[in-house]
Amino acid sequence: MLIKRGIAVSPGVAIGPAMVLGADVFRIPQRFVSIAVVESELQRFHAALDAVCSEIEANEQVAKASIGSQYSAIFAAHLQMARDTKLISEIETLIREKCYSPEFASTRVLHEYAKRFQNLGVPYLAERAADIYDLEKRLLRRLLGERREELRHVAAPVLILAKNLSPSETANLDRRYVLGFATEVGGRTSHTAILAGALEIPAVVGLGDILSEITSAEMVIIDGTEGVVIIDPDDETLVRYRDSEERHRSFTRRLEALRHLPSQTIDGEAIQLMGNIEFPTEAEPAHQRGAEGIGLYRTEFLYLDANNEPTEEDHYRAYCQVLQAFPNQPVIIRTLDLGADKLPLGFRMEYPEGISPALSLRSIRLSLLHLDLFKTQLRAILRAACHGDLKIMFPLVSTLLELRQAKMILSDVMEDLEEQGVPFKRHVPVGMMVEVPAAALMAEEFAREVAFFSIGTNDLIQYTLAVDRGDPRVSSLYRAGDPSILRLISNVIKVARQHNIPVSVCGQMGSDPMFVPLLVGMGLRQLSISPQAIPEMKEVIRHLTISRAEQIAERAASMEMAKDVESFLRGELKKILPESVK
Ligand code: PEP
Ligand code: MG
Repeated sequence: MLIKRGIAVSPGVAIGPAMVLGADVFRIPQRFVSIAVVESELQRFHAALDAVCSEIEANEQVAKASIGSQYSAIFAAHLQMARDTKLISEIETLIREKCYSPEFASTRVLHEYAKRFQNLGVPYLAERAADIYDLEKRLLRRLLGERREELRHVAAPVLILAKNLSPSETANLDRRYVLGFATEVGGRTSHTAILAGALEIPAVVGLGDILSEITSAEMVIIDGTEGVVIIDPDDETLVRYRDSEERHRSFTRRLEALRHLPSQTIDGEAIQLMGNIEFPTEAEPAHQRGAEGIGLYRTEFLYLDANNEPTEEDHYRAYCQVLQAFPNQPVIIRTLDLGADKLPLGFRMEYPEGISPALSLRSIRLSLLHLDLFKTQLRAILRAACHGDLKIMFPLVSTLLELRQAKMILSDVMEDLEEQGVPFKRHVPVGMMVEVPAAALMAEEFAREVAFFSIGTNDLIQYTLAVDRGDPRVSSLYRAGDPSILRLISNVIKVARQHNIPVSVCGQMGSDPMFVPLLVGMGLRQLSISPQAIPEMKEVIRHLTISRAEQIAERAASMEMAKDVESFLRGELKKILPESVK
């Protein structure tokens, strides 16, 4: 039994066989294919081999141009090996006659070749073994890389273990069969993590090296509440986890009963709980959970989920679907936050090497550059606005100029619609995310020009503390409880109240019950959170008084370190709601 610790990002426990994806160190279990698919498996092997040959040829050219032909000869030798007819036919024979999977057949043959070289006792030839392993790695990467496509076609319950899952891969996981996932990289607020929460799949990220410890089909436990992954658990551990799974389920059932009770403190102050969604299909379940509107619809997932660029009609249909679930409540549509880690495969923009995507072209910057993209979305939003209480929100605004430009484009789009006689709503409230420290510091000026603020703590923490939100190596620095973050948030709330504009928190910090007494104590009366966090959050709020929340906020503000703030808040939460899962 092996226990690994990572970052808990989506609560719950999943138990089942592993499906390992994309390991760099490949351990290929003996796997057979049925006779019926032998021919197509042979084709798959040849396609992978052809791709490897092209890759080596390309490397050879690059090496020749940059460091000279004496070095590019190394690749020529690799190529010769990859085209060796004897070697290829040995692999083919194992696939055809023994029904081995191409992965296993390739590993088997290449390992034998490597061993033969190593056993010759000639140092120069022994080194050739490294070339064979290199070829094996390339081939397996191709074969298994293609297999990631099969993620879409998983047909039996599995727990996915991968180096990383992209947001689009995560979005496409089949929830019927993927019981949980765990990745070597990723942070608490990486978009993959957020999606895991949205899909309600227990997940742990940032585990570090784990793939070399596990092979597909081994039994695994993923504990998304505690951030633990257990490989090959013993019986006692299995029983313990099955019990805790049951306890978690009964706590959740009890909370469901709160659905129709108001979200208000003991002393009667209403705290509006809205939902964050990524897909229109989440709107109705969010409503069922008691969301009083949608405080953040991350529309960029329309792109991540599709093979083609969505049309104006695709946008329009998605927005109408969300409005339908909330006919009398606010729905805040955030314009595209594409870029950084939210780039669909094949999207036309790439980041040059050495450029940090998070600090580069993303979000409103990208929209202002690709006006066709931006205008298509704005047209759909303005048209959909006729069907409910829709508001527009711009992401990642960092300067007043940017905000004004975005608003100007919005006016242009209104003119176009007017001229074309297309029905739309003119008076749609326009708000902004406060998620760049510059915007938090300039809140006073921004407050005069927007209808509302929504504090995006995920990015605000990343940019304030200079910590990539997806990098587990620096995740210990990524702390919502850091005094610098509390100060910025408190300032934004104060300014919004002075200017009489609504302010909410829509980053993951708001979905963590431990921070809610603090935020309420700072004066926040609106939260937009993961829909599955709503019942527990309501329970916390219903056990709170404003004066207690204010005391908590005052005490936290006097602390100098994130760890002290967080352990204090954790202790307070335990007093308020002892059963909380935190
Ligand atoms: C945030 O940054 O807090 C936020 C809500 O936006 P996203 O997580 O989509 O970047
Ligand atoms: Mg953000």
